[in-house]
Amino acid sequence: MGPMTEAAPEPKLQLRLVPVTPLQQNCSLLWDTATKHAVFVDPGGEIDKLMATLDQLGLTLTRIWLTHGHLDHAGAAADLRDRTGVAIEGPHREDQFWLDQIEASGKRYGIKGGRNVTPDRYFEDGELLDFEGVAFTVAHTPGHTPGHVVIHNADVKIAFVGDVLFAGAIGRTDFPRGDHDQLIRSITGKLWPLGDDITFIPGHGPPSTFGQERQTNPFVADRLTGYKGAPKAAADTVAQNAADRFA
Ligand SMILES: [Zn+2]
Ligand SMILES: [Zn+2]
Repeated sequence: MGPMTEAAPEPKLQLRLVPVTPLQQNCSLLWDTATKHAVFVDPGGEIDKLMATLDQLGLTLTRIWLTHGHLDHAGAAADLRDRTGVAIEGPHREDQFWLDQIEASGKRYGIKGGRNVTPDRYFEDGELLDFEGVAFTVAHTPGHTPGHVVIHNADVKIAFVGDVLFAGAIGRTDFPRGDHDQLIRSITGKLWPLGDDITFIPGHGPPSTFGQERQTNPFVADRLTGYKGAPKAAADTVAQNAADRFA
């Protein structure tokens, strides 16, 4: 007789990437398998495709989150709010000037359909977002844009990083108010401490892990940044907790 087996329980949350716009931006659709409630992260365009995906999967949209104000990430947010009545949250208020020029950027890049938008509220660094009982944390990560945020959950071990970091690359910093040094500090100071085993969904291209990028990324590998792990205070806390357990 073989070992007893049990059907693996269905995961609480599921994720699907929906590439949108000619820039193939990774719009993320995350949903609760039980309640069928869903959040779109960075609905950058192709509103009909986004609505059809919700429909196909039988989902009800309950949240819209934006990582930053660029056209390919926020271009369809206004349409999505109009069609579903769901409020738009994020990015940080420093990106409003980008949200105000989505239509102008569309003309410049030849991408149709994007609309300027003002979110229902902005994100703050460190705030917690509840999605179906799962807490996501917001980190303000300027550099690519001044109001860029990263949204992550330590239990599911996932981070939505927009255009901060890519597999093998980092975000552009040659736009107005872009800042290369600040971007590097955002990555080493806000992303790396979340843990090597976090899988991140970048705005473009394939997912990767923070650990992989710390080893091989040609812009932010540890050998280039000098990153040596979490700050000593955090390491001391871990050591103290371990000591307490054996006291
Ligand atoms: Zn961008
Ligand atoms: Zn982008």
